[in-house]
Amino acid sequence: MWIAQLAADAADMLPAAPGSYTLILRAEHAATITVGRLGDVRVLPGWYLYTGSALGAGGVRGRVRHHLRPVTRPHWHIDYLRQACTVLEVWYRVDVRRWEHLWATALGQSATPLPGFGASDCHCQAHAFHQTHQPTLTWFVAEMERLKLATAATDAMHLGRR
Ligand SMILES: [Zn+2]
Repeated sequence: MWIAQLAADAADMLPAAPGSYTLILRAEHAATITVGRLGDVRVLPGWYLYTGSALGAGGVRGRVRHHLRPVTRPHWHIDYLRQACTVLEVWYRVDVRRWEHLWATALGQSATPLPGFGASDCHCQAHAFHQTHQPTLTWFVAEMERLKLATAATDAMHLGRR
C-alpha cells in the first residue's frame, strides 16, 4: 500500500492522478452545522477524518485543492464540515481502485461515525468520523493490516511539515 502524508498546504505536491484520500481535520470548538438533507450535525472539539475518492480529471491534487479553498457555496457534506474545521493533513493512495469504502469501514472500527455523512451514494455507515485524539497514519496503516484490508506491503511518506 502506498499512502503518503503531508501538510495540507502542500496540496500542489500531490499527484494529479486518480486516487483515494482521507482528510484529517481539526475542530477547535463545538459547533452545530446544517448539512444539506442530513440536517443539524453537532461538531465536537477534536479530530475528524473524512474519506473519499478522486478518480476524475485533476485526481487527488485537484480534489484536495478544492478541499482547501474557502467554502463559498457548500455542495458536498465535507464542505459543510469544513466550515467548522481546519484541514491539516491528507492521506492518499494513487490507485484507480476506489478505497474510500474500505477505509471508511476501517475508520469506523475505532472512531465515531457521523451517521450518513458523505455516504449518500453507498452503503457505508459514514465517510466521516470523530475522535478526541489526533489520528496518525501509523495507526491507520496498522488498523488496515489488522483488519486484513491491506493486500501489499505498506509504505508511508511524509512530504511536508505537520
Ligand atoms: Zn462508502
